[in-house]
Amino acid sequence: MDKIKKGMNPTRPGYKVGSVPAPEASEQPQGGASSVSFQGATKRYGNSTEPAVDHLDLEVEAGEICVLVGPSGCGKTTSMRMVNRMIELTEGDILIGGESVRRKDGPRLRREIGYVIQQVGLFPHRTIAQNIATVPQLLGWDRGRIRERTSELLDLVGLEPELADRYPVQLSGGQQQRVGVARALAVDPPVMLMDEPFGAIDPIARERLQNEFLRLQANIQKTILFVTHDIDEAIKMGDRIAIMKQHGRVEQYATPAEILMAPANEFVEDFVGADRALKRLSLMRVGDVNLWKAPLARPGQPTAEVRAELDHPDVEVPYALLVDQRHRPLGWLTQRDLAADTVPATADAPLGPMLETGDVMRDALADLLQGESMYAPVVDHSGAVTGILSVEIISDFLASPEAKTDEHSAVDRPLDADRESQIRADE
Ligand code: ADP
Repeated sequence: MDKIKKGMNPTRPGYKVGSVPAPEASEQPQGGASSVSFQGATKRYGNSTEPAVDHLDLEVEAGEICVLVGPSGCGKTTSMRMVNRMIELTEGDILIGGESVRRKDGPRLRREIGYVIQQVGLFPHRTIAQNIATVPQLLGWDRGRIRERTSELLDLVGLEPELADRYPVQLSGGQQQRVGVARALAVDPPVMLMDEPFGAIDPIARERLQNEFLRLQANIQKTILFVTHDIDEAIKMGDRIAIMKQHGRVEQYATPAEILMAPANEFVEDFVGADRALKRLSLMRVGDVNLWKAPLARPGQPTAEVRAELDHPDVEVPYALLVDQRHRPLGWLTQRDLAADTVPATADAPLGPMLETGDVMRDALADLLQGESMYAPVVDHSGAVTGILSVEIISDFLASPEAKTDEHSAVDRPLDADRESQIRADE
């Protein structure tokens, strides 16, 4: 998996999603990622005396996911929509890559900025390809260029090329959401606005889409403004989180770890909730902790060797793990398995949950609890076992000083490639 370290988050001029032909002179420069700067951005609706958003100052770095989170009605959506002028600023300004949105033509601005919403908003009577090509068509791209870009985008968001000619209703909710993302990326926008993009999707599919989106972001490195009311989603998706109170007042703007470890005030503390320790697990991956070693056994091996290993005082897992020639776990060996002279080819006890080094720790804990299992083998990309994760390791970790310092950027937290492709295959 591509790793993007904090502080190295590139502005990378000229970075492109795939090979997009050079834009026409009449279009704005595309590609790359631009910073977004709210400067006293204020919105007063109609005659209301109280502003919906009151002098918002916020700096979003290029290539980062900034999550706006807060209670309903606090001004998240208004703040986001002022960026592409779906909602006009009453006062103040917003700069995209240093340029004022006020000085741009509204409709053009909206075409240039990717926008993803909860209900996806695909046109039901247009094919997937036509949906993705909406903005390129408006911009008058030629047919060949549109076709090329569409297939590139389908590939980018992990959809089969055959889906291009289907209609939205023929796709699952998750697939439709991916089309929505592809459409938003069509003109390689410098900024993407995502308004509760996964809100309407059931929790399991949502987790998949979130992970998938983070993987995609590792490649495209767009500047993303992401609105949600769900703090867990904010912690998972955000490089930086702005916790908002009424009138768009930012109570804290910081990385997820900072917000969890050092909430700025009572409001943030309440909003983040009592189970902060548990939430910290969202910032960690399984490969980040010292895993236990289980005695490994291969079919045909003398069981005396395995039993001797199990009797060793340093052994942390009281069971031996049956593995194949390439160290891929096959199952847990029971006393009965080890009663014979040689290790059998199949294990008596099922494997239970299997984890990967790239799994988010919080998901790993959920897998262990769901599998009613105290231990789970952890495998690397090749499927070879690298160690054992136990509920005890997680609870020790939570009590450790390490738990308070470790941090990864959002794109470094998702599941790894193998798990992703498995997820896709499941859909
Ligand atoms: P959030 O996205 O955090 O739920 P909104 O930005 O939608 O908050 O709303 C902020 C405030 O502005 C709320 O008090 C809401 O009632 C008000 N508001 C939003 N849209 C309009 C509108 N079109 N006309 C009048 N008031 C609005």
